[in-house]
Amino acid sequence: MANIVAIVGRPNVGKSTLFNRLTEQRQAIMDNQSGVTRDRHYGYAEWTDKRFTVIDTGGYVVGSEDIFEGAIREQVEIAIEEATVLLFVVDTMTGLTGLDQDFANVLRRSKKPVYVVANKAETFDRQQAASEFYALGLGDPHPISSQTGSGTGDLLDEVVKHFQSEGVEDPEAGIPRIAILGRPNVGKSSFLNVLTGRERSIVTDIAGTTRDAINTRYKAYGKDFILTDTAGIRRKARIQDNIEFYSILRSIKAMEESDVCIVMLDATRGLEAQDLNIIGQAVRAKKGVVIMVNKWDAVEKDHRTADVLRKEMVQRMAPIDYLPIIFASVHEKQRIFQVMEKAMEVYENKHKKIATSKLNEALQPVIEAYPPPATKGKQIKIKYMLQLPTPSPTFVFFCNLPQYIKEPYERFLENKLRENFGFDGVPITIFFRQK
Ligand code: GDP
Ligand code: GDP
Repeated sequence: MANIVAIVGRPNVGKSTLFNRLTEQRQAIMDNQSGVTRDRHYGYAEWTDKRFTVIDTGGYVVGSEDIFEGAIREQVEIAIEEATVLLFVVDTMTGLTGLDQDFANVLRRSKKPVYVVANKAETFDRQQAASEFYALGLGDPHPISSQTGSGTGDLLDEVVKHFQSEGVEDPEAGIPRIAILGRPNVGKSSFLNVLTGRERSIVTDIAGTTRDAINTRYKAYGKDFILTDTAGIRRKARIQDNIEFYSILRSIKAMEESDVCIVMLDATRGLEAQDLNIIGQAVRAKKGVVIMVNKWDAVEKDHRTADVLRKEMVQRMAPIDYLPIIFASVHEKQRIFQVMEKAMEVYENKHKKIATSKLNEALQPVIEAYPPPATKGKQIKIKYMLQLPTPSPTFVFFCNLPQYIKEPYERFLENKLRENFGFDGVPITIFFRQK
């Protein structure tokens, strides 16, 4: 179930500021951990255990103050189709404008939940002024200040009600959901054709859990899996500017719906910034990831090429070093089976549960030998640890002074978890709690 929040509204109302407010905390944490670049226009947010993707639509098309035509209109329409919830930002400093009305006219026709976000309401006067936006016909305005953060909590409480929480009953539970992601022309359609073409045997053609994403169950190469795809959304962007926006929304959606993402790259081009973005996003979303370097047939190579390339890629993704990388050729059907087999393995890893006794048996001696460094003259003692029953591997370490444990030590523990229990291809989350 994709959880996507799109922020729409005319220029200068504070969309980017709100976007940063919603995503920044998490992003800052992730940016510390990874060299993976981030896109300014989409990011990851979390509120009361619900995770979601936030898209700042303003970043893609720069419209002028008084024209609501073509690109902007189309972009709002695309956002309406793809998003789960829309945040329509207006400005309490300038008040209601004609352009706000233009946006509202399009938004009113959507069946998706729309929240009128009356921004810049730091003062009591502006909070009062927010009621003016009731005239947009989209329900009660929510006064907030993106700058200070006031009101955003109440807004998010409302927004996350529209998200299905993880772990709801699902007749297809236990069958891996796989999304194939990558930049245009890396070979995604060709790969899909090979997977679902001659060898295919469609078991069922179930309607997706959402209205517009299609999940199709396949048996191929002896594996049973669901390809999560948004191919059901036929309408493409008509305007050039919106094509990138559209394809990003589509791939975010497919990613959100999946357990494991196969991120395809083009071997003749190597790992590019956009690929890093896709990988970073999948890792933030706690999805399993397999990297498939396609068009291996088109690369001039000797017996060392794969190793050299692999090393280079791992360096650029640092510190994310646990993603399997497979060099394949869809044209020559080389290692297609391995890719699918690896995707299944990553799925198993994602759902693996380590017994508390095993966990402590393996890690206690390591922690005794290399305890967390003392901070401010205080000894930090990790007492025990356990894995939470969450959809992706999450471990809690109980200790006396959780606030003093630093990132390098957290990474050390993560590495030890991986060494001992092999979570190939899966992001691991670690918490420290007082005990
Ligand atoms: P966008 O064009 O809709 O993405 O708007 P921006 O996020 O770039 O913000 C436009 C201007 O409004 C900037 O100068 C921001 O600093 C300012 N702004 C954004 N949010 C707030 C807010 O909550 N309060 C106040 N006073 N100013 C804000
Ligand atoms: P998509 O945009 O990611 O769906 O990419 P397509 O499947 O449309 O492929 C883009 C181009 O790459 C087409 O011309 C394909 O024939 C070509 N292509 C796909 N897979 C391979 C491969 O394994 N080797 C080579 N040399 N070309 C490939």
